[in-house]
Amino acid sequence: MLIDSYDRVVDYLRVSVTERCNFRCQYCMPEKPFSWVPKENLLTFEELFEFMKVAIDEGIKKIRITGGEPLLREDLDKFIKMIYDYNPDIDLAMTTNAYLLKTAAQKLKDAGLKRINVSIDTLKPEVAQKIAGKDVLKNVLDGVDEALRVGLKVKVNMVPMKGMNSDEIVDVLEYCKNRGMSIRFIEYMENQHASKEISGMKSDELLKLLSKTYEFEDEGFDGSSPSHYFCMKDGYRFGLIEPYEDDFCKQCNRIRLTAEGQLIPCLYFDEAMSINESIKRGDIKGAALVLKEVVRTKPEKNRWGGDDTESSSRAFYETGG
Ligand code: SAM
Repeated sequence: MLIDSYDRVVDYLRVSVTERCNFRCQYCMPEKPFSWVPKENLLTFEELFEFMKVAIDEGIKKIRITGGEPLLREDLDKFIKMIYDYNPDIDLAMTTNAYLLKTAAQKLKDAGLKRINVSIDTLKPEVAQKIAGKDVLKNVLDGVDEALRVGLKVKVNMVPMKGMNSDEIVDVLEYCKNRGMSIRFIEYMENQHASKEISGMKSDELLKLLSKTYEFEDEGFDGSSPSHYFCMKDGYRFGLIEPYEDDFCKQCNRIRLTAEGQLIPCLYFDEAMSINESIKRGDIKGAALVLKEVVRTKPEKNRWGGDDTESSSRAFYETGG
């Protein structure tokens, strides 16, 4: 079992399989970065799988594939199947923008994927075009329909932004509710890679807006999720993620791996250790030692600058958000 210095059990690994993305979301990657990590620096799926085995043997029970956009990486279903075949009890999930999901959903489900989180910030094609930099909405919604059809559980993430999609909060919630999908609203996190034009909506503003349409009760946190849950009269629950708070840190159970092999103990810190060399050398014991050291040094809680500035310069598309 992996236990950090604050007695938290770490059993959740988020794996970014690529930093590349086919969207240019205003809050994440509005411009293509100056250069991508050269492909030869990335761990292959076989190498990543070697580390998944180490992590599972040490106590990881949940693996989430993310990116960049994970569906851009060829043979993702084969990587998922490797993990599933090694241990079918692993809670295998993926976060995606769903643009390429329609044709991939069945293969991913057959490979052993159980759940997906999809980012849907709007239901208006022109707003989707404005946020993502291209006409994406039809593909995204078709992808979600197909994922539901093949039996994947789907959760939706929405980043509410003033003057952009703040008038669609109820519409997106209803879209999710009607399809039996839960929704989590993520407060926009300032970061140096995002467009300077964005004005994120804070949780109190969001709750005030939702309370004009719904009655709901605060249910607090649920397990180790960073999401604060609210339950509506009819039993439908929605979540709110407030990254500037640190009250979800005490139940944090996650670490992150980048496509290059950087193992990151906390999204909000630049500190990381690489498993790249040990995995490429076939040094399984060395990789396990790095994993244990990263867990041992996991910070107690996140940190923001006094003026709410970002605390890590790493882009969300490198770590998977
Ligand atoms: N491409 C996939 C997707 O679109 O879901 C996975 C990667 S994306 C970085 C993962 C999540 O991070 C998305 O739900 C996205 O909305 C969120 N995200 C990215 N930048 C963010 C920011 N500045 N503030 C809040 N959430 C952000």
